[in-house]
Amino acid sequence: EAITVGELAKRMGEKGADLVKELFNLDMMVTVNQTIDQDTAELLVEQFGHNITRVSEADVDIAVEEDVDPAETLKPRPPVVTIMGHVDHGKTSLLDALRGTKVTKGEAGGITQHIGSYQVKTKGGDTVTFLDTPGHAAFTEMRQRGANVTDIVVLVVAADDGIMPQTIEAINHTKAAGVPMIVAINKIDKPEANPDNVRNRLLEHEVIVEKMSGDVQDVEVSATEGTGLDELLEKIALQAELLELKARPDRDAEATVIEAQLDKGRGPVATVLVTRGTLKRGDTFVVGTESGRVRAVVNDAGKQIKEAGPSMPVEVLGLGGVPSAGDVLTVVENEARAREVAQYRQEKATEKRTALAPTSFDTMFNQANVIEWPCVVKADVQGSVEAIVNALHNLSNDDIKVRVLHAGVGAITESDVTLAAASGAPIIGFGVRPNPKARDLVKRDGVRMMYYDVIYHLTDDVTKEMIGELGPLK
Ligand code: GDP
Repeated sequence: EAITVGELAKRMGEKGADLVKELFNLDMMVTVNQTIDQDTAELLVEQFGHNITRVSEADVDIAVEEDVDPAETLKPRPPVVTIMGHVDHGKTSLLDALRGTKVTKGEAGGITQHIGSYQVKTKGGDTVTFLDTPGHAAFTEMRQRGANVTDIVVLVVAADDGIMPQTIEAINHTKAAGVPMIVAINKIDKPEANPDNVRNRLLEHEVIVEKMSGDVQDVEVSATEGTGLDELLEKIALQAELLELKARPDRDAEATVIEAQLDKGRGPVATVLVTRGTLKRGDTFVVGTESGRVRAVVNDAGKQIKEAGPSMPVEVLGLGGVPSAGDVLTVVENEARAREVAQYRQEKATEKRTALAPTSFDTMFNQANVIEWPCVVKADVQGSVEAIVNALHNLSNDDIKVRVLHAGVGAITESDVTLAAASGAPIIGFGVRPNPKARDLVKRDGVRMMYYDVIYHLTDDVTKEMIGELGPLK
């Protein structure tokens, strides 16, 4: 009896590519669509730390104890949107403006402190969740920790300023996450606004908007004047419809921490996004490796509510300590179970740190089953960036392709490191080094650094690595 790699991945809640990679490490060259025998399947399940439950000896039903809600229990849920873009292009203004359509006059600017993430209703009656996340590094850091909470990215580009370094960074983070993007061309009220220039320049980064006959939706907005906001919301709703987002509401909740802090009056407070189930007051939970009990659930308008369902951002009170962004909050039956889960997570975390050996580098398989060699490139001047990216692309062949996740000028930053870590890619520094914060992250995440001052040394090394990677295939 056999099962396809893809089906097994689905049941395990893992990525198909990760299974393929693991099989590759076991010297088995298979694609996601190929079948593997039962012994191999069981081996894989164990490798990924899941439990095997066989329904009957005859059928190879490898279900995983944790997780995967049956299809018939799933209900549509609102899309979760993150706004990204260059500094000063209007992310905060847009978040405020979109929210303004909902917050009543009395509340606006009032005494109540609202949480940064919130939900709005579109004219068509759909609900959209906006996440207030601080920066691109945070976005990828969460993704790296397995918290893929964002369904859609809205890329804000100021029409008077055009494509800037952090715009490119946002595009690359979004692409690496495989999340669909909607381009909001902001500040169209300004006389010097040139939205068509933005559309044109986006082409250079392989973002082809609808007006250029591509499939990325774009919309002209002014956050300060409030123009185009309904249209933006409608486009989000349309994109969401295509994604067919669903979650099971009637189960113990699971939520992801968006941000957390120690509040003077209220103790540790976390803003979480419910990813499935319904979070209720009184629930016992584990968050990260700490346990707690929900003392209050507070909605985006600062009001206490009894419960929160999928895609709702809420504040949770009653935590034992301050968790980190990206930590998963899981509701459990009782204290004993909470301790058990917390301990399991601690062990997992330790395992993961050991597994991330700095020498290991990762290849990825795309759908066409071409091996990809991902990397992030930073260099001292734009000329070097271009020369290196070109040289790297020239090393690609039919079997293996260099995939530059991001390339830019300047020191290696936190954003570069999180992006590299999330894809198991090395960072190539040409005449540049990491800044102190990035250096700490490099150590923590075990990201491999490759430093050069001469291009052909770089291409020599990469060529060797690529050949090494192909070795077992031939
Ligand atoms: P962020 O850094 O991306 O969050 O950008 P902000 O939202 O802080 O906006 C930066 C500046 O641009 C502020 O002075 C805003 O008032 C201004 N701004 C934002 N959106 C618009 C817009 O649509 N039109 C105009 N004229 N100014 C805007």
